[in-house]
Amino acid sequence: MLMEFTWRFLRCPNCGKVYNWHVDKLFYIVKMRTRLGPPSLRCASCGTVFVSGLQEWARMSPSQRTRFAILSLLDSLFVGFSLTLPTFAVIGYATNTSDPQFPSFGLVSTSVAAYALLVLALQVVRVILSNRRAESVVQEPVLVSFFSWQTNLQFYAVVVCSVGILLFFYITFVLR
Ligand SMILES: [Zn+2]
Repeated sequence: MLMEFTWRFLRCPNCGKVYNWHVDKLFYIVKMRTRLGPPSLRCASCGTVFVSGLQEWARMSPSQRTRFAILSLLDSLFVGFSLTLPTFAVIGYATNTSDPQFPSFGLVSTSVAAYALLVLALQVVRVILSNRRAESVVQEPVLVSFFSWQTNLQFYAVVVCSVGILLFFYITFVLR
């Protein structure tokens, strides 16, 4: 297979409710989780406080921060490509273009870069929120459920990219 990966569910240690789904390893070696987040979580279901294995930005080592930056860049490019495909499929379909030059390389790279910048901006927001948590006087465990975006961002990214890629195939091979 082109993309070999393993995934994992993380659960509340008390009630077993799943609060995170993530791609653990790509090609069995590349660890895909950045581990940025609140070290202490409170289950939204049963209220149990537990250790998350995540770490705030302020306590990350230079090598962990570098890893975060590299993974963010890779993720942003992956999301950029996955969303660029349906973007031009939709535009091509809507404008009914038969131009074989559409979309041009310039258009494609601009689109990939635009989506990638959005993802990178979101990662910067995560770091800012992490710093706020680390600086706050009262250290409260963060309430977590499956839909908490900060602790389950990979899940949202995979859903958005899958929908995008399916849309691309649908328009390209079914509609046209
Ligand atoms: Zn629970």
